[in-house]
Amino acid sequence: GEIASMMDVPITKVIGTCMSLGIMVTMNQRLDAETLTIVADEFGFEVEFISTEIEETIKVVEDREEDLKSRAPIVTVMGHVDHGKTSLLDNIRKTNVIAGESGGITQHIGAYSVTLENGKRITFLDTPGHEAFTAMRARGAQVTDVAIIVCAADDDIMPQTKEAISHAQAAGVPMIFAINKVDKPAANPERIKEQLAQMNLLVEDWGGKYQSHEISAKFGQGVNELLEKVLLEAEILDLKANPNKPAIGTVVEAQLDKGRGYVTTILVQAGTLRVGDYVLAGKNHGKVKAMYDERGHSIKVAGPSTPVSILGLDGAPTAGDKFNVFEDEREAKQIAAKRTQLLREQSVRTQKHITLAEIGRRIALGQFKELNVILKGDVDGSVEALSDSFSKLSTEEIQINIIHKGVGAITESDVMLASASDAIIIGFNVRPAGAAKQLAEKEEIDIRNYSIIYDAIDDLKDAMEGMLSPEM
Ligand code: GDP
Repeated sequence: GEIASMMDVPITKVIGTCMSLGIMVTMNQRLDAETLTIVADEFGFEVEFISTEIEETIKVVEDREEDLKSRAPIVTVMGHVDHGKTSLLDNIRKTNVIAGESGGITQHIGAYSVTLENGKRITFLDTPGHEAFTAMRARGAQVTDVAIIVCAADDDIMPQTKEAISHAQAAGVPMIFAINKVDKPAANPERIKEQLAQMNLLVEDWGGKYQSHEISAKFGQGVNELLEKVLLEAEILDLKANPNKPAIGTVVEAQLDKGRGYVTTILVQAGTLRVGDYVLAGKNHGKVKAMYDERGHSIKVAGPSTPVSILGLDGAPTAGDKFNVFEDEREAKQIAAKRTQLLREQSVRTQKHITLAEIGRRIALGQFKELNVILKGDVDGSVEALSDSFSKLSTEEIQINIIHKGVGAITESDVMLASASDAIIIGFNVRPAGAAKQLAEKEEIDIRNYSIIYDAIDDLKDAMEGMLSPEM
C-alpha cells in the first residue's frame, strides 16, 4: 500500500507485480528490500534506502598507500568445550607481564593485547568460542584476522571443533591448530593431525598448508612458539591500517557500571581514538570521557588493533556494532536518532534470509549464485550421503556450498552460522533444540526437516527449478 501511494500507482498493480514474481501479498504487507527494488523498477522508479544513506553520510577517508602502517593481528580462540580455550587465553594473559608490573592483565574488558619478546603485538578477543565470533559476524562485523583452533590431544576432533572450523572457514579466516594438553600421558597429537587430514585439513608436518603447534596451555609449554606462528600468519596477511585518521572499529562488549556509567569496550581497527572524540557506536553516542587499557591504565590515545574500554556513551551498544568518530556532535546525534528509528521499523519490516522456496525466483532473476547449506543428521552415513548428493546438484547457475555438516541436533550455533552466512539448514532425522528453534524464528532462518534422503534431494532440486511450494 505504502509503495503504491509513493509511486502513485493503483495498489492492485503492485500486488499484481508481486504475484508475477511469485510473491503473494496483501496491501498491508511489508516487502523486503530486494522485492521493493524490483517492484519499483517495474514502474520505473528507483529505491533509495535510508540505511544506506546513513552509512554514506559517514565519510569514508580513502587511505593512501603511504599512510598504511602494519598493525597487530586480531585473534579469536575457538574449539570444543574443555579442550583448553580459556586456559590458553589465561596463560597468554598471565605470562605477558610488562616490566615494573606485579601481575599480568587483571581486567576483563573483552579483548586484550600482548607484546611478545620480539616487540611484536597480538590482540586477542577474550570471549572464546565460535558463538561470539559468529554473533558478531551476523551483525556484519568481521574483526578476527586469525583463528586459533584448540584441539585436546587426549581427545578426538569433536563436534564443536568441527563447528569452529566451519565457522572460521565460512568467514574466510585463516586457522592455526593448537594441539593442546600434550603434557597428558594419553595425549596423541598424531591422531589429531590424522583426523584433521580426514577432513581435508592437512597440517604442515603432513605436507599441508595449515600451521599447527603442540602446546600445554596449563603449563605454558609451546605457547610462545604458537604465538610466533600467529605472527607468521599475520605477516602473510600483510595487515595494515592508517593510524592517522579518525578512529573506526567495532564494539566488543558493553555494560553498565554502577559508579562509572556505561563502559564500552571497542576495538580500534583503523585510525586513532582520542579522549575527547565524539563517538557514534550503533545507536549510541557520546564524547569519550576516559579510556582504559586491559591493565586498567588510563590512556589518552588508541591506534589500530587496540582494545580500549571507554566511558561516555549514552547507552550500551551491541557487540558487533561499528563505531565512528564525528567532528560534528550534532551529526552523530542525528544519525543515532535515525538508527534508533530504523531499528524500530526493521523489527516490523520483513528482512528475510534466504529460504528454500525463494531460491528458484532468485536464480531466475539472475542475482543468486551460491546457496549455503548447513546439514545436520542423526548418523554420519546419512549426513555424508546428503552432502555428496547436494554438492552434485550444483549447476552452472548455482553453486551449492555445504558450509557446515555434522551429527546431532540443530543448535543455536548452527542458526547463528546460518544467519551470518545467509544459509538454510537441513535436518535429517534431527530437529532444532528448543532455544535453537526460537532463535531460528527470530533470525528468520529456513530449517527443513527430512527423514527420507530422496525427499531432501528432490526438494532442493525443485527449489532450484523454482518449483517448490512454500512450506506451511
Ligand atoms: P575450554 O572449555 O575450552 O575453555 O577449556 P578450559 O580452558 O576451561 O579447560 C578445561 C579443562 O582442561 C580444565 O580443567 C583445564 O585445567 C584443563 N586443561 C586445559 N589445558 C590443559 C593442558 O594443557 N594440560 C592439562 N593437563 N590440562 C589442561
